[in-house]
Amino acid sequence: MGTIWDYSKVAPTRLGRAVLDFLLPARCVTCSEPVMEHNVLCAACWSKLNIIEPPRCEIYGTPLPFASGDTSLSVAAAQHSANWDRARAAVSFDDHSRRLVHALKYHDRHEVVWLMAQLMGRSAVDILDDAHLIVPVPLYWGRMWTRRFNQAALLAQRIAGSAAGNYRPDLLRRRRPTRPQVGLSTRARRENVKGAFCVAEGLESDVSF
Ligand SMILES: [Zn+2]
Repeated sequence: MGTIWDYSKVAPTRLGRAVLDFLLPARCVTCSEPVMEHNVLCAACWSKLNIIEPPRCEIYGTPLPFASGDTSLSVAAAQHSANWDRARAAVSFDDHSRRLVHALKYHDRHEVVWLMAQLMGRSAVDILDDAHLIVPVPLYWGRMWTRRFNQAALLAQRIAGSAAGNYRPDLLRRRRPTRPQVGLSTRARRENVKGAFCVAEGLESDVSF
């Protein structure tokens, strides 16, 4: 596996930056076209991202065709009571956003973390303003051993940097390995992760329900 240069952890001098830009010229993180800044999308890729903006469902976070009063709910939210208060998605999942997600998830492209965290933080600003804790979904220890990092933790840590809540990657533990959720039905997904997570031993008092 090749070395990954994470510019976000580096604060080079102007000369150092110029040298780095010469050695590693800035490229669009999804299509590799030359761009002016590191860790960004080119104009063409940016225009193809389907960013979810209000009006949207207050509970599911899905886009709505028009605003309907103070609290907008989708048909799905009105018909099925959710187990959560508010969920947000930064972009619709399609061919363009898939490339961004897969770059981090399957190709260890850490340089997309900054961009993805910016999009996620912007989309969830109303939730983050009220959040006490920011907790990434943990990996099973065996998976963590082979991957060396948890993508969810990278994103959560970056998002927490500009949010009020405390970043707590230690609070949750994954009890057992689970199958990938990709391709599973809603019911199968639920069964797959049922009982898979718990609050880490000794930290129960840090979480109030
Ligand atoms: Zn591009």
